[in-house]
Amino acid sequence: MKIIVLGSGTCVPSIERSSPGYLVETDERLFLVDCGSGSLRQVVKAGRDFREIDAVLITHPHPDHISDLISLLHALMAAPGYRREKDLLIAGTERVRQFYENCVFRLLRRPDTFSVTFISAEEKFYIPPVHVFTHPVYHSPGSIAYRIERGGKSVVFTGDTDYGAGLIGFSEGADLIVADSSYLQRDKIKGHMTPGECGRLAGKAGAKRLLLSHIYPVGDGDEFLREAKDAFIGDVEIASDLMELEL
Ligand SMILES: [Zn+2]
Ligand SMILES: [Zn+2]
Repeated sequence: MKIIVLGSGTCVPSIERSSPGYLVETDERLFLVDCGSGSLRQVVKAGRDFREIDAVLITHPHPDHISDLISLLHALMAAPGYRREKDLLIAGTERVRQFYENCVFRLLRRPDTFSVTFISAEEKFYIPPVHVFTHPVYHSPGSIAYRIERGGKSVVFTGDTDYGAGLIGFSEGADLIVADSSYLQRDKIKGHMTPGECGRLAGKAGAKRLLLSHIYPVGDGDEFLREAKDAFIGDVEIASDLMELEL
């Protein structure tokens, strides 16, 4: 399983960091986890084919995590010489379904060569051979984390969230946690974790690796890493756009 960071940033525009988006690539499947503005272009920059995407997994309907869903649907319907026949799966909570029904399909007609199937992301679902689990998190109503498992490997995407005990059990033994580490402890705001809290989560969950992501353009670097490493002895990295991690 490969994780490709499309965007390690946030809603705030940044030259270095695109809005949140990740690809999860297995031998059989290509998943897009969140798709903020610019994610679709980042897929192309990462050398992947957006037409191969099987499923889009949305953590929550904030624009920096969902806005390129419109662009993806549009591109799948209008790419020259391309006729999509396989279903597109979209997973999320009820608010994501509302966005998709009320916004995406108000702008675009429904595709006529393929179906868009909504998966209500409550607890778990299976897109063979990949198991996906979800867990509610402390951010905005309808925010969830995802845990994706295939062939004995697992990755957790916390989505935007504050630190919460429930996430520890959910992330237990994960090979990788991709975590919202928006601000340093001194700038901490409610609804997002600090690198230290991400470290604590990874440590208590017994995870192998931690990737600090969702980083606002107010600073990262050594201090970010130090806060996380003080709480977690495993492997910690700061995400950068287009980086790839093999699990
Ligand atoms: Zn966000
Ligand atoms: Zn958010």
